[in-house]
Amino acid sequence: AADADVHVRSGPVETADGVGIEVAANVGTAADLEPAVDRGADGIGLFRTEFLFLDRESPPDEQEQFEAYVEALESFDHSRVVVRTLDIGGDKPVPYLDLPEEENPFLGERGIRRSLGPDADLFETQVRALLRAAGSADGTRLSVMLPLVATLEELHDARDQFDSVAADLADEGIVHEMPEFGIMIETPAAAFMADRFAPHVDFFSIGTNDLAQYVMAAERGNERVSDLGDYRQPAVLQAIDATVSAADGHDCWVGMCGEMAGDPDLTELLVGLGLDELSMSAVTVPHVKEAVTKTDTAAAEALAAHVLAADTKAEVTARLTTGDTPAQ
Ligand code: PEP
Ligand code: MG
Repeated sequence: AADADVHVRSGPVETADGVGIEVAANVGTAADLEPAVDRGADGIGLFRTEFLFLDRESPPDEQEQFEAYVEALESFDHSRVVVRTLDIGGDKPVPYLDLPEEENPFLGERGIRRSLGPDADLFETQVRALLRAAGSADGTRLSVMLPLVATLEELHDARDQFDSVAADLADEGIVHEMPEFGIMIETPAAAFMADRFAPHVDFFSIGTNDLAQYVMAAERGNERVSDLGDYRQPAVLQAIDATVSAADGHDCWVGMCGEMAGDPDLTELLVGLGLDELSMSAVTVPHVKEAVTKTDTAAAEALAAHVLAADTKAEVTARLTTGDTPAQ
C-alpha cells in the first residue's frame, strides 16, 4: 500500500478483541526521535546507543550521554524508552576503540563481551549516565537492556556493575535510580536458557537480526545465505516460541526489536506467539499498528500453532498467506 494510505495512530493500539500491543520505534540518534513521534510510535523499544559513538574522534562523556537519554525520554512523555548498552564489534566498528582483528568478528568480541572486558571504562561511564537519566524527573520510564548476552554470568556481572555504580552515585550524592533491566535474546544460548534468565530480568527483547544469523549459522547481510538467515525459517520461529514460553509465569514481558517486528505481514503471527511489544524503524509503525487492530488473538494463536508446525520455510510462508490458514 502507498505510504500515504496508512493512517497514523498516535495512541496505543489493541487487537480487535482488546489486547494491547505496544508498538515502539527503533532509534539511533536524536534525529530519529521526531520521525518516531510523527509516525505514532508508543515509545522507544530499541535505542542503539552505539550511534552516539560513531563518526567522531572520541567517545561521548557521561554528561553528553545523560543528555541524549533524557532527550529521548522527553520526546516520549508517557511511554517507555528502552536503551541498549553499547553494542559494538561484529559489523559495528568504532575507529578510536582499536577493535581487535578477528577472523570471525560476529563470533568474537562484541556487545556485552566488550563492555565486560576491554570497554569496561566506557561501560561504567554509560551506566552512570543511564542511572542518572533514570533518576531524572522523566526517568521512571527508562529501561536498559544488554546486547548479545549468552550466559548467566554476563547478566550477573553486568547487574553487579549497575549496583556498584549506583553505590558510587549514592556516595557522591548524585540523583539516580535503578532502571527496568532486561536482555536481548539474540544468541541461541540465550533462547535455550531463557527460563533461567527470566527470573532475573524485567523483560526480554528478541533481536531477530542476530538471532536468525546465529540460529541458522548464516551471516546477516551476506546475500549468498540470505534465504537461510531468514526469520521465517522454522528453527528461528522455534527459538522465538521457546523464548516467549520461557517468560510465561515470570514477571517478564517479551518484546521484539529485530527487523521481523516491523513486517506487518507477520504481525498476526507475532501476536499469536505472545509478544507484548514490537519495536521497529519508525516508517513501519503505522503499518504494524494497523495490522494489530485487525488481529483477533484467538485466530492469531491458531495461526501461530499452524505456522510452528511447519517443517520448512516454504511451508511457513504458505501458511502465512491466506491460501492456507487453519480452519477456525
Ligand atoms: C538484532 O540483532 O535483531 C537487533 C535488533 O540488534 P542489531 O540489529 O542492532 O544488531
Ligand atoms: Mg543485534
